[in-house]
Amino acid sequence: MSKRSSRREKISFSDMLQKITAAMLILLLTAGIAAAALIEAGLLSEESLEKLVSRAWSPRITYGTDDEDALVRVTIADVGQGDCILIEGEKTVLIDCGEYEYADHVSALLRSRSIERLDMVIVTHQHTDHMGGMAQIIYGFDIGRLMMPEAPQELTAPTRAYETMLTAAEEKGLELTSPKAGYIYPVGNETKLTFLSPLPNTASDDLNDYSIVCRLDCGSASWLFTGDLTEHGEKALLDSGVSLKADVLKVGHHGSAESSSREFLARVKPALAVISVGAGNDYGHPAPEALKRLGRYAHIMRTDEAGDIVMYSDGSRINVVTKNN
Ligand SMILES: [Zn+2]
Repeated sequence: MSKRSSRREKISFSDMLQKITAAMLILLLTAGIAAAALIEAGLLSEESLEKLVSRAWSPRITYGTDDEDALVRVTIADVGQGDCILIEGEKTVLIDCGEYEYADHVSALLRSRSIERLDMVIVTHQHTDHMGGMAQIIYGFDIGRLMMPEAPQELTAPTRAYETMLTAAEEKGLELTSPKAGYIYPVGNETKLTFLSPLPNTASDDLNDYSIVCRLDCGSASWLFTGDLTEHGEKALLDSGVSLKADVLKVGHHGSAESSSREFLARVKPALAVISVGAGNDYGHPAPEALKRLGRYAHIMRTDEAGDIVMYSDGSRINVVTKNN
């Protein structure tokens, strides 16, 4: 009796599964036909559809209020035409610090967060819009480790800011380390920072392509920080086969036309793209072509419009808050 009943239950469960699967297939087919009809009628563009699908797979970004209980806080600070990213978990990591004239702003930001020690400082590459104020940061704070990529000497023209940074590092007894791709730094609170480049096969006459690229994972929430990588460096990353999918992309090279290639974005599929850029800059960043490519996938935010962009994560959601300076 009991055997029979359990057999009957099994059959009806598998029937149910089949029915659910069939219903889902019909639903997907109907949605596909409806989307095709809307595109045909000119009521929906292919770009909007791509964006809708991308968002549907990344429903975890919300826009709201500060969350002091978050596992990690990521700040993309407004440093005009430059980059500066602060990661706060159990450990504190600073990626770049903008030009020299923003050193006070960055120091004030760190002090406003009661930070006295930076466990890791990453100089993505040796251009002054990324490390112009680094000497002041090195002198002003207790630094754990200092990372910088190795690049051909002829590409790293010794600017005053670079020389001063090297002197500051030497005086503080800090060793400059070039990270190996694949190295994982535990930030704590279920959060890790993985270095994806520079890759051994990087060969470029553009220093930007030697940028340190890293991804941050907090539970299932993720960010990709690409420095000033151009499509040449993006290609090397694509060829390396590493996982690039991320919820948030810190857009490469301030949104220049030569970065954020179609192939690269198809692998990252960001739901949110943040461009660190100065208002009315001389380079025309961000480029309309790059904005168009990014817009296929992501909601775009810019530091010249939003100020500091602060993101909190509990390991599954990312909550975004802006702080106009
Ligand atoms: Zn730059």
